[in-house]
Parts: sequence; C-alpha cells; structure tokens
Amino acid sequence: MTDRYGVIGHPIGHSKSPVIHRLFAAQTGEDIRYDAYDIPPERLAEELKSLAEEGLRGLNVTVPHKERVIELLDQLTDRAHLARAVNTITLSANGRLDGDNTDGVGLLSDLTGNLDVSLKEARVLVLGAGGAARGIIPALLGSGPRDLFIANRVVERARSLAERFDALGKIVACRFDELGGQHFDLIVNATSAGLRGEVPPFPASILARDTVCYDLSYAMTPTPFVAWAREHGVKQAHQGWGMLVEQAAEAFLIWRGVRPETKPVREKLPA
Ligand code: NDP
Repeated sequence: MTDRYGVIGHPIGHSKSPVIHRLFAAQTGEDIRYDAYDIPPERLAEELKSLAEEGLRGLNVTVPHKERVIELLDQLTDRAHLARAVNTITLSANGRLDGDNTDGVGLLSDLTGNLDVSLKEARVLVLGAGGAARGIIPALLGSGPRDLFIANRVVERARSLAERFDALGKIVACRFDELGGQHFDLIVNATSAGLRGEVPPFPASILARDTVCYDLSYAMTPTPFVAWAREHGVKQAHQGWGMLVEQAAEAFLIWRGVRPETKPVREKLPA
C-alpha cells in the first residue's frame, strides 16, 4: 500500500518539498505519495489531528508552524528540543507524533559533504537568531569551530541563543555594527531579510576573498545576500538549495530507513 507523507505550512504553494520527495521516491523505489497542505495557524491543531486520522506516516513542517507545532507532539528528539523548532514529524500507527529537526544536519551535509567547507578551527559568523539559527547552531558548534559569533538586529535574541547553547561551546553574541574589525572563514545568513530584498546591515569590511558565504534562503535567481557577497569579491557564495535537499534526505531516511542520493536532485535545482 502507498504510504502518505506531506508538508504543512502557510502559504505552501512555493514549497519544493513535494518535488524533492517525489524524486527521492522514484530514485529509491519507495512507494510513497507526498502532498503539500496549506494550513493557516488557527487550524493547525485540528488539521494535524485529521491528517493523523487519515493515516499519514510523516510530515515536514515549514513557516509558520515550526515552533507552534511542538505543543501538539508527544515527543521530541534532543536536537528538536534544543532548537525549539520541528521540521519533521513521524506519525506512528498507535497515534504517537514524534518531532525532529533536520536543519542542522542538512546544513552540515551541504557545507562539508557537497561544498568541501572545513569547519574545524574555522571562524564562523551566523547572522540572525530565529528558528533556523536555533536549528543550525548546535550542529555548527559540534563541528569544532575556533569561534562562533551570532549577530542579530534585536541583540537580546542573539544573547539569549548564546546562553541557550552555552554548554555546547563558546558563542559571542553581538549587534551587526559591532562586527567591524573581525574576519570570518564562514558567514551563514540565517535571517529572512532577503524576503524583503534586504541584506543584513553588517560591515562589508569583514568579508575576505576566501570567506565562504552561505545563505539559508534560496530563490530562482541569486538571493540579495549572495548577490551582495559576489559584488564584494567573495568567490564562494551559496544559496540554501543544497541544505533544503539534504534536510529533506534526512527526513526521508527517518521515515523510510534509506537515505537517497542527493546529487541528482541538487543538479535539478538552481545553483
Ligand atoms: P524567523 O522569522 O524565525 O527569524 C528571522 C530572523 O531574520 C531574525 O533573526 C530576524 O531578526 C532576522 N531579520 C528579518 N528581517 C531582517 C532584516 N531586514 N535585517 C536584519 N535581520 C532581519 O525565520 P527562520 O529563522 O525560520 O528563517 C530564516 C531564513 O532561513 C528564511 O529565509 C528561511 O526560508 C530560511 N531557511 C532555509 C532552510 C533551508 O533548508 N535552506 C531551512 C530553514 C530556514 P530580529 O530577531 O531582529 O527580528
């Protein structure tokens, strides 16, 4: 029998998850169906219950439900608990709902596996302190960077993240305008500034030609952050398409016990 999966969000029309998971299914021969469900925030609880009753086996979760959905789940993995955000739900036959977060491992797979970026002893800067930042920071800290800075517009949110992850490694929290004079090997843009065509206002002086810039955001054309980095001479500036495919492959692995090859799927998406 075909097992059903899907992604919940609002809006959801733009989501590439159905295409990615259908390509994974075709590649691995897994008999699944994967659909997108547009669920407004006020209907999240009842719609999740009804999808569970329909027998869905798993769901990906995207904006704006990643945090809110937690209160509707029975159990969280450690990494979802740490991130306080869920992007993957497994629904068991007995009605149990388990939440996980594959964003951090997805980013690491893309950076170290696909893009050959070494994080060991690297100086790393994360721009932004929202849900995506919470998902990736434990994974970044686990890769042994020399320094990890978090800069955010509302600096209190960066400070609160630094405190939250204090036990995992040293984090310096600051405002964008406090970054002058610093240099980084890797700058990860985890803000949503690009959605409004903006680039986080950090000093361009911190960019060097060998700095790797990685934008979690992705678009059919270069995102504002990627375009801006390239204009400033950065040779390696990447959008988050690779992370999107890798976090999806991790979800597929959790659900189906097989991790699909991501290269053929990444090659179908913009660079
Ligand atoms: P949140 O809404 O939780 O956080 C948004 C962050 O962006 C906050 O730190 C906010 O700062 C900052 N921000 C928003 N506008 C601006 C601006 N104009 N200038 C500076 N900072 C700004 O969003 P998420 O963390 O969930 O998502 C962030 C991005 O990551 C999104 O674009 C999302 O699509 C992408 N993403 C990509 C994934 C992938 O697989 N590639 C996976 C997950 C997310 P403040 O706190 O000061 O308001």
